[in-house]
Formats: sequence, structure tokens, C-alpha cells
Amino acid sequence: MLDIKDDFPLLANYNEQGTLIYVDNAATTQKPRCVLDALMEWHTVRNANPHRGSYKLGSLATDLYEHSRESIANHINAKKDEVVFCRNTTEALNLVAASFGPTVLEAGDEIVLPVSEHHSNLVPWMQLAQAKGCRLVYLLTDKLGRISKDELDKKITPRTKIVALAEVSNVLGTRFPVKQIAERAHEAGAYVVADCAQSFLHYGLDVQDLDVDFAAFSAHKAFGPDGIGVLWGREALLEKMPPVLYGGEMVQKVTWGKATFEKPPLRFEAGTQNASDAFAFMAAVGYLEQIGQQAIREHEDALTARLLEGIRDIAPLHVYGNPCMADDRSSIVAFNFEGQDPLLIGRFLDSHGINIRVGTHCAEPLMTYLGTGATCRISLAPYNTLDDIDALIDVLRDAPRMIVRSVLKKRK
Ligand code: PMP
Repeated sequence: MLDIKDDFPLLANYNEQGTLIYVDNAATTQKPRCVLDALMEWHTVRNANPHRGSYKLGSLATDLYEHSRESIANHINAKKDEVVFCRNTTEALNLVAASFGPTVLEAGDEIVLPVSEHHSNLVPWMQLAQAKGCRLVYLLTDKLGRISKDELDKKITPRTKIVALAEVSNVLGTRFPVKQIAERAHEAGAYVVADCAQSFLHYGLDVQDLDVDFAAFSAHKAFGPDGIGVLWGREALLEKMPPVLYGGEMVQKVTWGKATFEKPPLRFEAGTQNASDAFAFMAAVGYLEQIGQQAIREHEDALTARLLEGIRDIAPLHVYGNPCMADDRSSIVAFNFEGQDPLLIGRFLDSHGINIRVGTHCAEPLMTYLGTGATCRISLAPYNTLDDIDALIDVLRDAPRMIVRSVLKKRK
């Protein structure tokens, strides 16, 4: 099992003062010391505006920014210029919808997406569909959070132009077979956009192997800083896409009446780039490579199996998605206690130093489909330990009884 908690100052600091079991990693992860050091290094000895300064510090900033892009490209098996830096997954997906979408969609076309999509990979397509007179077609999941072959055959048709889906659902925890779905979509003549926000850290990303047309992810969900993410796109597609933001350093030439634009990726990076976070993201990727994807997978699988096993006999607890460990089961576990307000469960866990997420998880259509207003969600990261899981199970076991007791006490 991995033992890396001490690399994360926030976790170490909190654990000195009491207990912190941070299991809201699908929202954001904590940062290892090497990432914090990289941020400090940038601002203390590296900082200048990349792609602008002709002095030494400026050229070095450009080199480091482009070197960061190259490291991330290598990490995902992509070409350097296919990596567009964005603010996060949300901005990356909006960029595809706003720039690529209108170039391929016509009235009557269909955009296919799972009912479990995060709003970031749903609302941009919804807006585009409305603007172009297209239809959204939802892939429905079964009780185990999976999408059947029949459902794919029924919904992906020659009318489908875009299939947009998360590799891992941020609620159901299912890892969808994106490669197979992409193959099916490509046969139908559609393009595939993968939201890798919840898979990048946990499963890695090899864009050649996944064989999609676009992929998006955020650094902050993978030990990197917030404020930076990536849109990866096939070179030939990026080259045809118009920019959506205009300004400094994305232009080739500007006259009094006309502008021509840089090639990708700079065409999509108007204004001062987020070079410090790109530099720190490179440090995060280096750290991940040092740990190794296989070790991350084995560690998280062991934690998830222990968690699912431990909560299986807590009678009023209902898990959404697959309640058992499986190859397509990630380390995100959403649940509710029958008849209990999830907010009270979240507060109760917080009072024991356990941080989970409670709410709709930016997946409101899925909440409607599941017939619930909100859920609790545990999401693990490689720094979580078996001790964390055991403590979590113990507190969950007590939660309903203790909450009822405290409500009754308040009523007296
Ligand atoms: N997609 C999925 C599946 C997510 O879980 C999230 C974050 N919760 C996002 C997209 C958006 O990520 P960000 O907020 O970093 O843009």
C-alpha cells in the first residue's frame, strides 16, 4: 500500500492538531510539497510574462512554460501542440462546445451524453443544442451505474454528431468504457469528447489509446494547483477551430481592420498565460509518475473494496451505482441513509474530522433520475489509508443513531 500522506503539508498539519480525514477528493485534492515548492520557485526566481519578454528572464519563462506543456503532453501520450492550457475542465469543455461545436453541428443533429454528466459537460452542449436547433439524447444508466450495449446501439445513430462523456462519473463512480464507446461513435461518424476530470489522477490518460477526439482535465483534482487545466484535441481538429477569446499573443498580425491568428495551442490562450500554475502542474505530473499509475490503481482499489465491504451491512445506507467492487468501480462512493438528511450526515462526519461532500454534485439531471435531491459522497485519493477507511466506517455505523439522539435532545 502507498504511504504518502506526509508529502502533503495540509494533511500533516491538521493531523498534528487533531484528526483530518479528507475524502472530498473528487472536489479537489490536497497538494504535495513539491507542487508548493514549484509555486514558490516560480514566484521567487522565475516569474516573467511568457511569450513576451525578450530579456533573459522572459525567455526562460517562455521556455519553462512550453517545457511544462511538453511534460504534460508526454504524460498523456500527446503531441506538445495538442495541449491547450485552460483554467480547468469546465473551461476546456466550454472551449470545445463554443469553438468546435458550431463547425460540425446542423439543425436536427444529436448530441449524445450519459444522464450522469457533470453540468460542465452538459450545460455547454445544452446551450449549443438550443442555439443550433439540435437535440440532446441521454444515455440512461442501469442500477449498477452502467450503460448497456443496447442503450448505446439505440442512442448512437447516424444522427449523432457528438458524444460527450465523463470517463468516470463524479457521482456513480462508474468508469465508463470510453474507448469502446468512442469506437461505436466513430463508426456512426460522430466526434467524441471525454471529460477526464475524475479519471486523470486515478487511471492516468493515454489519448492515443483512448482514441477520442478531445479530452479535458483539471490540475487541481490531481495534486496540481487550481486555476489550470488542459484541453487536449487532435491536431487536425484544433487547427480548424476558431478562437473564442481574442487578445494578446494569440494573433499573428493585426492591422487597422483585420487580425490573423496564431496556430494552436497559442490561438486559444489569449492574454497572459498562467505560467506559475503550469510550472507547478508539471511538478504534480512528475510526482504522479514517481508514484506510478499501477501503484495508485492498486492502492485505491484496495481502499474502495474495504470501504464497500465495510458499509455493506449498515442497513439504512444505500449506495448509488455499484455497491460492490468491480473493474469499472472507481473510488467515488455516493450514498444516502434512508430517511436522513444528507446534510446532517455530512455535519456529523465533519464533527469527527471527516470531510465528505454533500449535495447534487453539479449533476442535477442525475439526481432527478436517481429520485433524490442530494447525496453524500466519499471520494478517495492515493494519500488516503486503510486507517482512514476504517475510521470512516466506524463513524458511518454510528451516524444515524447519533443524529436521531441529537435531534431528540434538541427537542427536549
Ligand atoms: N467534470 C467532472 C466529472 C467533475 O467531477 C468536475 C468537478 N467536480 C468537473 C467536470 C469540473 O471540473 P472543474 O471545476 O475543475 O472545472
